[in-house]
Amino acid sequence: MMKFPRQFSALILAVPLMSLLTAPGRLQAQEPEKPRMLFVTQSKGFVHNPVNRKNAERSGAELAMMQLAKDTGDFTVVCTQNVEADFTEENLENFDIIAFYTTGKLLISPETFEFFLKKWLPQKGNGVMGFHSATDTFKDFEPYWDLMGGTFNGHPWGANSTVTMQIHDLDHPGMKPFGGKQFEFKDEIYQYNHWQPEKVHLLMSLDMEHTQLKRPYHVPVAWCKKIGEGKLFYNNMGHRDETWTNKAFLGSITGAVLWIAGKEQGDATPNPEVSAAQQKASEEFAAAAGVTSTKLEAEKKAKAAAAAARRAAKEKQKKAGK
Ligand SMILES: [Zn+2]
Repeated sequence: MMKFPRQFSALILAVPLMSLLTAPGRLQAQEPEKPRMLFVTQSKGFVHNPVNRKNAERSGAELAMMQLAKDTGDFTVVCTQNVEADFTEENLENFDIIAFYTTGKLLISPETFEFFLKKWLPQKGNGVMGFHSATDTFKDFEPYWDLMGGTFNGHPWGANSTVTMQIHDLDHPGMKPFGGKQFEFKDEIYQYNHWQPEKVHLLMSLDMEHTQLKRPYHVPVAWCKKIGEGKLFYNNMGHRDETWTNKAFLGSITGAVLWIAGKEQGDATPNPEVSAAQQKASEEFAAAAGVTSTKLEAEKKAKAAAAAARRAAKEKQKKAGK
């Protein structure tokens, strides 16, 4: 059967309806149906450069998202750095995707968050996206970190480190644009508390074999999951300005948007066995480089002892000076 593009079929419907409806607002049905994203880049903690508006109207990441929406024609985006005004039960209904690149304790009430999590998100076509410090947001608020799937716990791989990534599901629309199972990337990489491999479909990890700075544990980078009929897609990447002009990264955003909208297919089945294999491999590659948890623990203790000694010496000096 021949299919009319959505706008035509909407038009055909709209013509006989026009005589019945007097409210001009109803003609909105003629608009082609695109996922509508609310891009939240408010920082209540550290302000990342890509989301810092400085004196401009929009930040770099916001401009990149707006340009991406325009270039692809696949979605629309509204940007906000004001959750108090825009993250409300009423306004959420105007969107299909809420994307967070935020930090700290945002002023969203537990009641509004509950509505978001229990009523808004589980609907088909709705979804949450998290970029970079979305996991450094609401760190002490369990419903949020349980939704995101992890909480920032330091970044041994700083902003200037080039790391190797490993993709576990190249068929996922959010991963396809990276083009291969392995790639190098310059960005700041987090490690996490509250990582819940049994709840998520792991998409990307730090490749411990090929990354110079090794740790004896799995470091997930991107993952997704379903919440009722709704979806979540998170990617740690995005600390650097350059990431927001990287074609593969931008392509992965579009892919994830289309996946959330149900326009492209991608698996979200939890795959804890992949995390377990990554954990084992990380332990082995780190051990081969002489990095073990016992050694890291000893280093941490030595550092803490040195800091305590410095504080004590300062105290002593202060007292002697009186
Ligand atoms: Zn960062």
